[in-house]
Amino acid sequence: MRKEGEIMAKAESDLGIDVRLSSWSPRLRADVLLIPAAMAGGKVRTRLINRLPRAAASRLDELIAGYHGVKKSGAVDDAILPGKAPFRRVAIVSLGEQGKVKPGDVRSAAGAAADWCARHGFRHVAVDGDALQLAANKDAPAQWVEASGLAAYRYTRLRSKPAGDNARPIESVVLASSNPGAALRGAIERAHALSQCVNLARELGHEPPNVINPVTLAERVRKIARAAGLRCTVFDERQLKTKRMGAFLAVGAGSATPPRMIVLEHRGKSGGRPVVLVGKAVTLDTGGYSIKPAASIPDMKYDKCGGMAVIGAMVAAARLKLKVNLIGVLGAAENMISSKAFRPGDIVTASNGTTIEINNTDAEGRLVLADCLVYSAQAFKPAVIIDLATLTGAITTALGNACGGLYSNNDKLAESLIAAGERTDERLWRMPLWTAYRDQLVGTDSDLKNVGGPAGGANTAAAFLREFVDDKTPWAHLDIAGVARTDKALAYCPIGATGFGVRLLIDLLSSGALPG
Ligand SMILES: [Zn+2]
Repeated sequence: MRKEGEIMAKAESDLGIDVRLSSWSPRLRADVLLIPAAMAGGKVRTRLINRLPRAAASRLDELIAGYHGVKKSGAVDDAILPGKAPFRRVAIVSLGEQGKVKPGDVRSAAGAAADWCARHGFRHVAVDGDALQLAANKDAPAQWVEASGLAAYRYTRLRSKPAGDNARPIESVVLASSNPGAALRGAIERAHALSQCVNLARELGHEPPNVINPVTLAERVRKIARAAGLRCTVFDERQLKTKRMGAFLAVGAGSATPPRMIVLEHRGKSGGRPVVLVGKAVTLDTGGYSIKPAASIPDMKYDKCGGMAVIGAMVAAARLKLKVNLIGVLGAAENMISSKAFRPGDIVTASNGTTIEINNTDAEGRLVLADCLVYSAQAFKPAVIIDLATLTGAITTALGNACGGLYSNNDKLAESLIAAGERTDERLWRMPLWTAYRDQLVGTDSDLKNVGGPAGGANTAAAFLREFVDDKTPWAHLDIAGVARTDKALAYCPIGATGFGVRLLIDLLSSGALPG
């Protein structure tokens, strides 16, 4: 049997593919040349590459002439090239119908193409960047690179041998362009860095609870922060006690590894109030004494994914040198059963003095977040607070796996988040924060109960969090329980942690739509 110490840790930087920008050159070599193309009237619309050797160009001509004209984004048609060609094959990748190609189509086509390459054993891929810009938009090369990096991700750290050829993703992408200038290079580098940060969030999400617990998470985040140039402060259980974080501490009380609050700081400009990102990082949620069904516990390692998205976004902000002051606050705890665990019936006191009766120990995320939200407001006087949490199964019942649930006390913030979600395909749907839901939480012997009954469970959870936020501070709560992990492969995401939230937050922070 393997012990923890025997696991060969792969470097954190090994989370992406090699990406290069190149001019068209006779020296350009790859296993396959991908030509992204839009369709019009059942015909491929693309520009022929006259830099290809004559025999290869004529095969491409034939391929285009005979292309059956699939409108669906991501459809691939290919031809084998003669022996001396710089590519073994050339393939047309459909982006959909001309004039209607959206960034999401480019990303899903890149994901489908990466899959197709992996199935055919093509590890080194060239992409016609000119064709891509012609068929989609001028930013399409960056969208392609971003999705390629995401599609190629696999969590392999704990495998003793590769999982078979089919699972082998692509290794490198060369984007060939007739105008490989600094602007394009910069855009591609940013997209590549962003995909690595999403993959970092995924990697941490996949880590099992015997590897990542609140204490090892804090150690791991310290290393990640040092490498990224982020300031990192870790608060241990004694410090949390001094801060009177009775709700947060209750959740971690039953675990052999005590809770940690991890604070990351990115200083992108001088002055101005910061944006604070708060993440739920429950490294394993058994449910505690309100224990979960046996079959659902293994996936509860993903209950830390809100926090992992915050880590990914913080590292991305540093790597992309975002001109914002950004704070990440992670509440890390393990919800376990022991004689020291919190009990149904306990009444605990949060750091703002609110007393909470524990009606269900499986409604623990809101208890962790309550104290983290109070701390965020007091310590940083933020312009905006956004929390991310795999908070409720109820949000998945309401919205499925298509989007996250958004709750906010501020319309402008909500609109900015929804717009960022549309641009990144990390969609959000706004849910209500009415006082009716707060009323379901009124306690009998305490101020609040931690659950509000079976009806509207995601809404009562959000209403609970609102009790720990000053309504003058724009705040948004993203319940990402339905989207933080996937049990089937998506266009550019394998089974497991999705890294949902990283691209959304970076888009939002880059958009200039936030105050502060
Ligand atoms: Zn729970």
